[in-house]
Amino acid sequence: MKLHEYQSKDLLESYGVPVPKGRTATDADTARQAAEALGGKCVVKAQVLMGGRGKAGGVKLFDSAEEAAKFAGELIGKRLVSIQNPDGMIVEKVLVSELVDIAEEYYLSVLLDRATQQLVVMISKEGGMEIEQVAHDKPEAIVRLQVNPAWGLADFEVRDAVRAAKIPGPAQRQMVGMIKSLVKAYIESDGDLVEINPVAWTPEGKLIAADAKVSIDENALFRHPEYDETKDDAADDPLEAEATRRGIAFVKLDGDIGIIGNGAGLVMCSMDEVKAAGGQPANFLDVGGGAQAERVKSCVELCLMNKSVRGLLINIFGGITRGDEVAKGILEAFSTLDVNIPVVARVEGTAAEEALKLLEGTQIVGASTMQEAAQKIVALAYA
Ligand code: GDP
Ligand code: MN
Repeated sequence: MKLHEYQSKDLLESYGVPVPKGRTATDADTARQAAEALGGKCVVKAQVLMGGRGKAGGVKLFDSAEEAAKFAGELIGKRLVSIQNPDGMIVEKVLVSELVDIAEEYYLSVLLDRATQQLVVMISKEGGMEIEQVAHDKPEAIVRLQVNPAWGLADFEVRDAVRAAKIPGPAQRQMVGMIKSLVKAYIESDGDLVEINPVAWTPEGKLIAADAKVSIDENALFRHPEYDETKDDAADDPLEAEATRRGIAFVKLDGDIGIIGNGAGLVMCSMDEVKAAGGQPANFLDVGGGAQAERVKSCVELCLMNKSVRGLLINIFGGITRGDEVAKGILEAFSTLDVNIPVVARVEGTAAEEALKLLEGTQIVGASTMQEAAQKIVALAYA
């Protein structure tokens, strides 16, 4: 889960990374006060979880609090669109931050290298622009430093890497310190990405994080309840945000056949079968093991919130999950929701017979195999 820039900076600051002073605002007045507190010289930055903010017009430098407040007022409530995020995102908050005098811009990040199964620190003298661009145009300008999982980073390794990245002599010592802080922050906060772009080198000879991007591993979020509220706006899709609130494993897709199954593998098989039958899955949804009626109901509701859905396939293989519980959940959901699309259910395994008996005579069409279920729902949905 991506954290906002201001949250990322707070986190990194607590690990000793120098960051500019700043305050968030959700209206022009608060922005003015924040800008005045900085003497008018400031940067106003949209707090949206998308790349290419600067180019999208979400970052602007000011030397008067009046103008900063005016810009903040215009920015809040506006939709920012970037190349990385063509759908755009609405700005709800801005960060009013101390204006850093920048002589040079460097790049630093920590991420997991899945190929070597190790953390890797990426260091470049070419900061400020998109790192993908640097990787493409000038791959030799990015130095990669592997973090050994057994003994971490030795100081000499970090110093060598910083030198290899051609970070100028006077900035090297601070850069080494920053890298060690980033790795510590990454590990202790269960990060999956920590990035500073740009690392600003000031004319006075100080290294400071002018931007910051931290993303936390979602599977570790239970250890970081302080970010619970961010969860909602971290999802790009409102349905996925709703799924997070409901605690359902859900991925929105572009098709129109809603899919519910138990177990990720079975759900993916169901998606393949729907495709093979000529349909397009509208989502991935795993109800999880041992699903009770209440939960199945919540899953059906979620699927149907997607207005593109014109047919629903339910594929349950009962093990711990009892088929009759699932059937009850389906019926309960349908009794409260006004469902006027076809629904096909395949229930197999524990208590399958009871399940099919419960569904008999209802609007739900039964099927005995996954293939049959997929063919039926596609035929009914596109009829
Ligand atoms: P991003 O586009 O989302 O990565 O936003 P950034 O925070 O990285 O800002 C984009 C660019 O604005 C940076 O690369 C800098 O060139 C510039 N910028 C941001 N903050 C400052 C600042 O405090 N001082 C100066 N001089 N430039 C800044
Ligand atoms: Mn940036």
